[in-house]
Amino acid sequence: MDIAVVNTWLITFQGKNLGIIENGALGVENGKISYVGSMEGFNYKKADIVIDATNHVTMPGLINAHTHTALTLLRGGAQDMPEIEWMNKGLLPLAMHMTPEDFVLGSKLGVLEGLKTGTTTFAEYTVNVTDTVENLYLPLGIRIVATEMINEVGYSRAPLKPTDLYEFDHSKGENELKRANELFRKFRSQEMVSCMYGPQALDMISLDLLKTIKEQAIEQNAKIHMHVAQGERERLQITGRYGKNKSTVKVLHKNGMLGSFLLAAHCHDTDEKERELMAKEKVSMVVCPSAIAMIDGIVPPVGHYIEIGGDAGLGTDQAPGPGHHNLFQEMRTASILTKTLHRDPTALPAWKALQLATIGGAKTLGIDKKVGTLEVGKQADIITINLGYLHLTPIVAQPFKNFIPNLVHSTNGTEVDNVIINGKVIMRESKFLDIDEQTIIKEANIRAKRIFESATEDWKKANSKLVKDVQNGWL
Ligand SMILES: [Zn+2]
Repeated sequence: MDIAVVNTWLITFQGKNLGIIENGALGVENGKISYVGSMEGFNYKKADIVIDATNHVTMPGLINAHTHTALTLLRGGAQDMPEIEWMNKGLLPLAMHMTPEDFVLGSKLGVLEGLKTGTTTFAEYTVNVTDTVENLYLPLGIRIVATEMINEVGYSRAPLKPTDLYEFDHSKGENELKRANELFRKFRSQEMVSCMYGPQALDMISLDLLKTIKEQAIEQNAKIHMHVAQGERERLQITGRYGKNKSTVKVLHKNGMLGSFLLAAHCHDTDEKERELMAKEKVSMVVCPSAIAMIDGIVPPVGHYIEIGGDAGLGTDQAPGPGHHNLFQEMRTASILTKTLHRDPTALPAWKALQLATIGGAKTLGIDKKVGTLEVGKQADIITINLGYLHLTPIVAQPFKNFIPNLVHSTNGTEVDNVIINGKVIMRESKFLDIDEQTIIKEANIRAKRIFESATEDWKKANSKLVKDVQNGWL
C-alpha cells in the first residue's frame, strides 16, 4: 500500500447521500483507492505513508467545474461596477495588456490557491489551454478538464454601444476550433487531462460554427462547455441578432443545441420554463455564485435546477470580480444566496452544497466514473480537513453530526491540510511538497504591476464607473 489515511471521519459520497463512516480508514495503491471503510480489520502496516487523520474529515478532492484561472493576475480588477460595463470597460482594457506568460502565471496562482483549499480538479476555460496543460497541470500532477475557448469576436469591442451587434470574424472562429481539435489530439489519452469544446457564448459565435462544434464534440464523445444566458449584455445581442422575443435558451433549443453534451455555465437569464426544458434535455449546469453576484447582482438558479432534477456543479469563474478560487467559500455563498433568493432556509442545505462541489461537479464534467466519490477502484483524489480549530469547535456526532453544516458554513478552506491527487501527495500538513509558493507570489506581484501600469491609459479611456470611483478617492 502506498498511502493509508487512518482514524478519520470519512465522507465517501457513495450512494444517494453523503456515505459517512465514523472511525474510518482509506488505502491508496497505484494511484487508485484500494480500501474505504472502517478501521476495524484495516491492515496498513506495510503502507509507505501513514496519515493519522484523527479529528479530521477525509473526503474526495473538490471539483471546480468552471474557472478561468488565467485571469488571476487581474484579481480585484473589475468589481462594484454595472454589469453592462464589466466585460468591455472593466475587464478588456486590462486583459488586452496581458501576455501568454501572464496567463500561465495567473493560472499558477489561481491553481495553488485552489489546491490549498482542497480543489483537486479544475475545469479550465481559456484561450490556448494547451499551454496551461503543458506548463502547469502536467508538471505538477493536477487533474484538469481543459476547455479551449472559441469565439468569432475580436478584441476591439470597447467603443461599441451595448446594442451594436458584434461583428463575426469566421476565420478567427475556424482557427480556434482547429486549436480545440489539436487539444483533443494531444491529450485525449492522458489520465490527468479531459478535454472539452468551449464556444464562449451564443452572442459571440455564429450558429454555423456552433453546429460544426456540436458535430465534432459528438464525434469525440466529448462535451461542449458554454456560457449560457449570462445577463443583459448577452440578451441585447441575442434579441438584436435573432429577434425581439428570442432568448439564448430558445435559440439553442431551436437549433438542436440542448442535450446531455452541453454543460451550461451561469444560466441566470433563464426562466423556470426554460430551465425545465434544459433539465428535460439533460443539460448540465455549472454556477459560480460569487462571480455572478459580483458581476450581475444576481443569484444563479441552481436551487431551482436541482429541485427539478437537473445535474449541477460549482465553479469559481475568474478572479477579477469575485476574487477567489476557493470552493469552500463558493459552497457557503451558494447555500446562503439560494436560501435568501427563495426566502427558504431549507433551500440548498449544507449536504447538498458538499455534493455539488464533489460528485455533482464530477457528473457535470463527465468524469464521475473516475473521481468525485471515495470508492475502491476510483482515482485517489483525496483531501483531509482538520477540525481542530476554534471556529469548527465543538464537534459532536450524536444525535447528528454537526460538522456537516460546519464544513460549509464555518470553514474558510485553509483547514485543508493534506491533498492527494491520483495517489500522489501534493500537500502534506498544509505545505506543498514540490511547489515554491513564495516565488510565485513574488513573480505575480511584479507581472501584475506591469500589466496594470501599461493598461492605465486604455483603462481610463474606457471610462467605467471605477474611473469615477478613483477620482472620488475610493480606490
Ligand atoms: Zn466563465
